[in-house]
Amino acid sequence: MKKTVSIGLALLTGLWFGLSDARAEEDVVIYSARKEHLLKPLLDAYRAKTGVTSRYLTDNEGPLLARLQAEGANTPADLLITVDAGNLWHAAEQGVLSPVESPLLLANIPEKYRDPGNRWFGLSVRARTLVYSTERVKATDLSSYEDLAEAKWKGRLCLRSSEKIYNQSLVALMIARQGEAATEKIVRSWVGNLAVPVFSNDTKLMEAIAAGKCDVGIVNTYYYGALKKEKPDTPVALFWANQNTNGTHVNISGAGVTKHAKHRDAAIKLLEWLATPEAQGIFAELNLEFPANPQVKPHATVSGWGAFKGEELNVSLAGQHQADAVRLMDRAGYK
Ligand code: FE
Repeated sequence: MKKTVSIGLALLTGLWFGLSDARAEEDVVIYSARKEHLLKPLLDAYRAKTGVTSRYLTDNEGPLLARLQAEGANTPADLLITVDAGNLWHAAEQGVLSPVESPLLLANIPEKYRDPGNRWFGLSVRARTLVYSTERVKATDLSSYEDLAEAKWKGRLCLRSSEKIYNQSLVALMIARQGEAATEKIVRSWVGNLAVPVFSNDTKLMEAIAAGKCDVGIVNTYYYGALKKEKPDTPVALFWANQNTNGTHVNISGAGVTKHAKHRDAAIKLLEWLATPEAQGIFAELNLEFPANPQVKPHATVSGWGAFKGEELNVSLAGQHQADAVRLMDRAGYK
């Protein structure tokens, strides 16, 4: 009974867009955890080019996945778009996505940014890296995520909540690289170094650094970009973590074709187009991310942050080690 109620509630959330057309049916139906303003320009461009129409429902990833599961074979959704490889991995494991054999996607999206089983494909890349106070920290004081566990950062570190999947994925990749024991030691020391309780989002974390509450933290690059765009004088800078070791943690936003897609061919064509240089520029720029397609140069603001070495391991490891990461962070007292 409880389950029915929660699914019922899940079905009531979300916002539909693209319904203004008089047409009885759209060519492609999308469930998207990526916000409307980040999706509409792409779909408009695709429609202008091909005449293909679309309708999309936006919501958080949890409700979208619950909806897909509840709807089963009756789902109207052809394509699921969401952030974080951990979420895409989850959707694939729940059986709501279907493999796509596409030479175009394989050619345009590097192997590390897509599911080894071809059930989802990265479409934009974000780095989760260090930020620091330009007033109290020198870039030469920084090196890695692991270094934030050192005693010199006692009472100086700010972190976002471990409930956010971005941090779960970061810790999951650390587990993949170093194993649980070494990772737990680091995470425990992070908690011991916290200046203030964890934050609900990356922007608040950077504002705390600017306000002098702490000196260093870990955020996704596009939040840094958005903050600097709004308040260029914010005394916070980016630092590329782990350049002397495994590279900075990178993650994706991406998409997969649903198992019960009613417009499978049209959904695959749209997904393929989203990976082309034409769409990749738009896709990444809308949120100050890095294009997943290496043929495409990032927006000038993004390339202005400087070149860096990113983690080479496949992002699907974020999903594979997610449950271990959550348990580890809980044991370590990371709220
Ligand atoms: Fe985000």
